[in-house]
Amino acid sequence: MSTDKIQKIAWKYALQNAIKFNGKANPKAVVGKVIANLQKDGFSPKEIIPVVNSVIKEVNKISIKDQIEKLEKIDPELLKKEKKVRDFTLPNLPDAVIGKVITRFPPEPNGYLHIGHAKAAIVDHEYAKMYDGKFILRFDDTNPENAHLEFYDAQKEDLKWLGIEWDLVYNTSDNLEKHYKYAEQLIKQDNAYICQCSPEEIKHGRYHGKECTCCGTECADNIDLWKQMLSKSLDGAIVRLRGDMTCDNTAMRDPTLFRIIDSPHPIHGDKYRVWPTYDFAGPIEDSIGGVTHPFRTKEYELRDECYFKILDLLNLRKPHLMEFARLSIEGMPVSKRKIKPLIDKGLVSGYDDIRLPTLRGLKKRGILPKAIKQFVLEQGISKVESTINFGLLEATNRKMIDSIAKRYFFVKDPIKLIVENAPKLTKKINLHPNNKELGTKIVKTRDEFFVQKSDLDKINEGEIFRLKELYNVKILKKNKEIIAQYEGENLIPNSAKIQWTNDEYIKMKVLIPHPLFVDDKFNENSLEQVNGFAEKAILQLKTDEIIQLERFGFIRIENIENKITGFFSHR
Ligand SMILES: [Zn+2]
Repeated sequence: MSTDKIQKIAWKYALQNAIKFNGKANPKAVVGKVIANLQKDGFSPKEIIPVVNSVIKEVNKISIKDQIEKLEKIDPELLKKEKKVRDFTLPNLPDAVIGKVITRFPPEPNGYLHIGHAKAAIVDHEYAKMYDGKFILRFDDTNPENAHLEFYDAQKEDLKWLGIEWDLVYNTSDNLEKHYKYAEQLIKQDNAYICQCSPEEIKHGRYHGKECTCCGTECADNIDLWKQMLSKSLDGAIVRLRGDMTCDNTAMRDPTLFRIIDSPHPIHGDKYRVWPTYDFAGPIEDSIGGVTHPFRTKEYELRDECYFKILDLLNLRKPHLMEFARLSIEGMPVSKRKIKPLIDKGLVSGYDDIRLPTLRGLKKRGILPKAIKQFVLEQGISKVESTINFGLLEATNRKMIDSIAKRYFFVKDPIKLIVENAPKLTKKINLHPNNKELGTKIVKTRDEFFVQKSDLDKINEGEIFRLKELYNVKILKKNKEIIAQYEGENLIPNSAKIQWTNDEYIKMKVLIPHPLFVDDKFNENSLEQVNGFAEKAILQLKTDEIIQLERFGFIRIENIENKITGFFSHR
């Protein structure tokens, strides 16, 4: 009877803890809660601990989805609390078995990762976690012209920043011999042939649904030609699948499986010259790599038929291939074709420019990785294409940083304010109105201040306003400088509260990003610069800290040593 009670409470808190920490409950935390809950009933830790440990083993065996369902039944209120931390779950995968799901993220190492990659990586990674499966990072590097050594590492770094860890990482190019073996099998089975037509002829043939003469080459001759391709005695040839040149799905009109690319590969140098296309490498790697649930974006949907045909012909295991819509953000292109010219012309500073949706750009702008994750999961994996306003991601981010961002004063377009009879004060001011853990700042004031000109425009001579967190002043004279007088510390209802700096201000530059493209044209005003004075306490911050400049916005500190630069995040 008594263990029943411990069991019940242990299940509740083990589930809650597991849901909070991605499906794995932490024994220490759970034991603490259960003991606190049961001590009044006279249970001793000796009785409680072994029960909790065995319950945790059970809980950690099941998927997050099941954990959520169980807690929903046991204690829906507790689940609601936890869902605030994690109020999203992906839909179930078809034919998924706990512990057996394998997903993969297959980037081409040809550039920095952007928000679109983040969506794929996050969805793949989440599913692997949800089913207690495995997540593979696979570099699809079978085009030596595109692959660059620096990007293998850069992409890994970007993923780590997102909080994504992989169980296995490898390069498709390392499996090339296997791809050759399967190619040979297809040629021997007469399912593929060598085509030596020009790219124009091939394009023309595909467009008009007409076979080329190479299609009639005998099987034995194709094997011979294939060997010549590999041994460098044949140039300008490709391997094509025997599809259907009249098929409505043009992706099936004898798609290219291999082509010759003589550029050196960043890893294999000039060891290989015949490289598989995406159409061939994708299904082969997914199948032999054990991937159970590969995802790709919807624009590949027409190529699914080819994916499965290749696996059919080779008698290889077929994964559950699934598609979702690409993530596009208004005014923020992700394609290199659009970004690279801007970098070349110096219109953006690089791939980490704060106007770009690269992960490096988002990081610099002050977007937290967990905000990206929540945003992506909230969008879900629907196939409906939509262009999303960046404001949505900013709103998610703002919710996360609001309670942890220290508050400071920033005065743009500063004008000098002299306060007659001002008391000399040393004030301790909280860095956050509610979060006391963020500490305080010490501010010393004399009679000289700086305030924002536009704030003072609204206040007339003879009127009283409050220097925020300090005291009231009455304006005596408005000129190039403002002359005012001290009016006591008591709060006056409805009087304006104004941000200020004392005479020990620091100069600060804030860069504000706007959409890079408007109506598909480069926006000349996409980067705004605001200069102003900030309070000296900011000098104690470090690069990367995200703070709030009151009544201005959240910014990320970019550089504190040289002049202070901040990147505006959002209001
Ligand atoms: Zn041909």
